[in-house]
Amino acid sequence: MRIERLETFPLLYKLARPYGDANGYKKYRSCFLIKITTSSGLTGWGECVDWLPTLEIGFQQRIIPFLLGKQATDRNQLVSTVSKWHRRSAAGVSMALTAILAERAALPLADLWGGSRWQEVPVYASFQSYTPEPDWPHVSRKMAEKAVAEGFTQLKVKIGGRSLAEDQQHIEQLQQTFAGQVQLALDANQSYDFATTKSWRSLLVAWSNWMWLEEPMPLDQREDYQRLRTDWPIPIAGGENLTSMRDFVALIQQGSLDIFQPDTMHCEQIDTYREIVQFSRQAGLRVSPHAYDGALSRMYAAIAQACLASWSKMEPAELEPVEWDVMENPFSRLLSVQPRNGRLAVPQGIGLGVELDMELIESLRWDGQLYL
Ligand code: MG
Repeated sequence: MRIERLETFPLLYKLARPYGDANGYKKYRSCFLIKITTSSGLTGWGECVDWLPTLEIGFQQRIIPFLLGKQATDRNQLVSTVSKWHRRSAAGVSMALTAILAERAALPLADLWGGSRWQEVPVYASFQSYTPEPDWPHVSRKMAEKAVAEGFTQLKVKIGGRSLAEDQQHIEQLQQTFAGQVQLALDANQSYDFATTKSWRSLLVAWSNWMWLEEPMPLDQREDYQRLRTDWPIPIAGGENLTSMRDFVALIQQGSLDIFQPDTMHCEQIDTYREIVQFSRQAGLRVSPHAYDGALSRMYAAIAQACLASWSKMEPAELEPVEWDVMENPFSRLLSVQPRNGRLAVPQGIGLGVELDMELIESLRWDGQLYL
C-alpha cells in the first residue's frame, strides 16, 4: 500500500466585509486540503492551516517528493519526518494517512478509535464579534439571533478587543436579548492581565448560563491562571495553540484550566490530538475542541469527540461541544454533513465518512497570487 499520489487544494475566499477578534480583522478565509491516493486506490483527505504559499511550496518542493512511494502504513515515521520541516503540514498528512487506514479496514474512522459512543455531537456557534460598523454590538446581536433561529443553543462571542466598558455592555445586551435561554462562552484571545480579567467577575456572577471564559490572559502566565481558578465563578478554557503533549501536561500539572481546547491542525499530528483528548478525560478534565479554521479537520475533531465517554456521571449524559464557525465562510459548506439544532450527526460511512463538494473546491481555488 504505497503512496502513489498526493494532490493539494489551496483555496482562498475574500470576505465581502471584514470581521475579527482581539487579534484584528480577517479580510479573507483560506483552506488547504490534501488528498493522498495509494497504489491500491485508497484515498484519504487531510487539512493544514498556514499561509497558502508556505504550504503549497512546501508540499510541492519537499513533502510530496519525500512521500511518493512510501508505505502509507508507516504513519508515525513519515509524519515525524515531515513535522521536522513543517509541523502544520505534518498534521494534515497524518489525517489523510489515518483515513486511509480506516478505508483499508473498511471501517468508519470512529471504529478505528475505539468506537463511537454518541450518535451526535453538540456544536456551538462561534462568532467573530467585531466588525467595522460603529454599532458593531448591534451587528453582533443580529448574527447571534440568526444562529439561535437556526437552532444553536450554545454561542461563543469575542471580548478583549474593545474597551472593558464597551465589551461588557455588548455582553450584557446579548444576555438580555436571550434572557438566559442560550449558553454563552466568552473568548478574550489572551488580551488581559490578571487585574483586568478579575473585573469581569461582577458581570459573570449576575448570570448562570456561562459555558466558560476562554484565554483571558497569555497562556504562559500559568501561575495567574492557577490563582484565578482558585476563586472564579465559571470554568476557564484554553489551549487552542498548543502543539504537543508536553505543553498540555505542563498546563495540567499547574492546574491552569478547567476545559482544554486542542485543535487538530495545531497539534503535531492527529494521533497527538487524540492522545491529548483522551488524556484530558483520564485526568478528569473537560475537552472542547477548537476548530475555527477548518471544515475537514473539524470533522476529525467531531469524530474523536464522539468516541469520548460523558465527562461526568450526571444524567442526562453530556458531551462537550465542538466549535462551529457561523461567520461568512464558504468552506463551511465543503462537507456533506452539516449541524441541525446545534448537533452534528456522526458520520457512519467508511473512512472519514463524508463527501466533499468538488465543484465548490474547484470554484474557490487560490489563483497563486500573493495576498496579505
Ligand atoms: Mg480562542
